[in-house]
Amino acid sequence: MVIREKILVIEDEKSISRLICSVLRKQEYEVIQAWSGKEAIMLLSSACPDLVILDLGLPDIDGMEILRELRSWSGMPVIVVSARAHEQDKVDALDAGADDYLTKPFGAGELLARVRTAIRHTRTASGNSEVARQGTYTVGDLVIDYDKHQVLVNGENAKLTLSEFRIVALLGKHAGKVLTYDYIMRELWGPGAGKNNQILRVNMANIRRKIEINPAEPKHIFTEVGVGYRMAENE
Ligand code: CA
Repeated sequence: MVIREKILVIEDEKSISRLICSVLRKQEYEVIQAWSGKEAIMLLSSACPDLVILDLGLPDIDGMEILRELRSWSGMPVIVVSARAHEQDKVDALDAGADDYLTKPFGAGELLARVRTAIRHTRTASGNSEVARQGTYTVGDLVIDYDKHQVLVNGENAKLTLSEFRIVALLGKHAGKVLTYDYIMRELWGPGAGKNNQILRVNMANIRRKIEINPAEPKHIFTEVGVGYRMAENE
């Protein structure tokens, strides 16, 4: 039997909700809808969805508040959708525990790619991942070898420094997902890492020189301007 993931769509705008739901149903996902924050909070605990699509601008409760409340008791994946295009809003949502962020308007293909990524990461977290099994992550001509602490490009060792390797390794473990600058800094250099992202930018420039054919047009690690970095995903 095919496992159908259950997705809760929290969105008060009828036309957008309808669109999201029809895109998801076409892909055989089971979809339930909430039209307000109150309804959302009720369904989050009673319907046990596998994934949540959360609009930030709801009529009764702010979406950020719902996200924080949910994160106090559950790690279920959340993709935030919002008309708020400011970088700080994305950073805030990701730092509050959102798995991803889509700015309206977005395309069906983009939505489905993010949904697949978030669901795959849930499976990864339960120990069923390609990475865990093989100790490598491959995307295109790039291979991250977690056992040997090496990154290969077209079979050649890219000769990353330890810091550079740790950045690439972290992004590879969360491929497809945007990691904020602060998150990367904390993961790599501890909670005292501070807010100066200069060290990260310098490292990324060096990484790109070593792993990208054209560092100005990266194919492996993308910059989400003002937010963070995202590793390309192995489809
Ligand atoms: Ca709304």
